[in-house]
Amino acid sequence: MASCATNPYSKTNREHKKQLKEYSKQLREFPPQLDNGATLLNFGEHQAGTTNFNLRKPNYVIIHHTAQNSVEQTLMTFTLPRTQVSSHYVISRNGEVYQMLNDYYRAWHGGSGKWGNTSDLNSSSIGIELDNNGFEEFSPAMINSLIDLLKVLKERHKIPDANFIGHSDIAPSRKVDPNPTFPWRLLAGEGFGLWYDEIIETPEVIIDGRPLPGSIEIQVLENEITPNTKIEEESPLDIDPEIALRIIGYDTSNLDAAIKAFKLHFIQTEVNGVLTDHDLRVLNNLYKKYM
Ligand SMILES: [Zn+2]
Repeated sequence: MASCATNPYSKTNREHKKQLKEYSKQLREFPPQLDNGATLLNFGEHQAGTTNFNLRKPNYVIIHHTAQNSVEQTLMTFTLPRTQVSSHYVISRNGEVYQMLNDYYRAWHGGSGKWGNTSDLNSSSIGIELDNNGFEEFSPAMINSLIDLLKVLKERHKIPDANFIGHSDIAPSRKVDPNPTFPWRLLAGEGFGLWYDEIIETPEVIIDGRPLPGSIEIQVLENEITPNTKIEEESPLDIDPEIALRIIGYDTSNLDAAIKAFKLHFIQTEVNGVLTDHDLRVLNNLYKKYM
């Protein structure tokens, strides 16, 4: 909001506007100026600009933690040309939202990464940076503001539930943000990101009218169970874990890193490259939601 105090970013804001002007000029070109590749094309005699179009829209939201100590530090980082990093939004610990770039421009927050077959996530996503040192919990004020922002973005750009993801999801070998305290489950409940059906955490297998203590497999039919059945030994995942991870969107070229990223997002307790029975059940439940 407007403030009487001098804006410490007035100088870089001028530079920001200068760049906007340059890009606007590029967007207004008609016919577009030919680059080297296009000069070889066999164009027809007349240029005909369509009258039916609008702006391209982002289709993903990527959530980050800044790994910095204050929002001022991050605003500074994103206004220094030499850092070559930025995001559309930054949210402070007390829940203040800073929009640093129009949604329709491409911020530099994702770096090299992949989700499904989408490789240039910066071109198709909005980046949100949360002011967090990388280890601390995310304050309720920050999460409330984040949810408000996500509602606006989801409505504005019609972003699907599944496309709210974390930086570590798209860059498992390089990134671990947002940290394991991030409330993905809460967000999924609001329609931002997917979550597994938690019934698999507290399943009950009924035998002779009584729940079988410690039973963990809910897919087994009642008449197949005897008290001696070692259901823990049955495979909880019906396909190769690598394929399940790829269906969700993970780049599995480094499988160990992909498993860690999956656990950082959906398990959050032991973030390592090992898939326990419980993790496999979560994976089994989840990959079908992404199909
Ligand atoms: Zn990040």
